[in-house]
Amino acid sequence: MSACIFCRIVAGEAPCHGVYEDETVLAFMDIAPVGDGHLLVIPKRHYENLLEADEASMLAVMAVSRRLAHALKRALTPDGIGVHQLNGAAAGQTVFHYHMHLIPRKHGDPIAVHGRTAGDPARLAENARRITAALRAAD
Ligand code: 5GP
Ligand code: ZN
Repeated sequence: MSACIFCRIVAGEAPCHGVYEDETVLAFMDIAPVGDGHLLVIPKRHYENLLEADEASMLAVMAVSRRLAHALKRALTPDGIGVHQLNGAAAGQTVFHYHMHLIPRKHGDPIAVHGRTAGDPARLAENARRITAALRAAD
């Protein structure tokens, strides 16, 4: 079993509230959201961070992030969407498998990247359902 939690999620060995999957990319709800709808978009292959990831994987993550940003906007009507990506512990990275954060924000929300507490599973599931539905509606 992999030591990397995101590799375990990719392998189906750990649970997640998924919103999108293709050959290269997986997207799911952050387990400790900063706000409602906080998403993570990852390459299925393990790269520690931006400095290791190959260009094709990063472009695929970005293309999916763009589609998901539109879906978030439709599903949850945020005022803005933060796109964050941290490289190395000194930059605040805590899971060392390359990933993009998509964080819907309302005016006045603090600009944080990390939540403090685990999200309510029912709420995470409901947000995943709404975002997935908005994504499908755009196809
Ligand atoms: P980083 O600090 O590396 O940019 O962000 C890692 C993110 O992964 C954090 O926002 C954290 O809440 C999230 N996270 C950590 N473990 C898990 C997990 O097992 N499942 C999910 N869905 N998110 C996780
Ligand atoms: Zn990994």
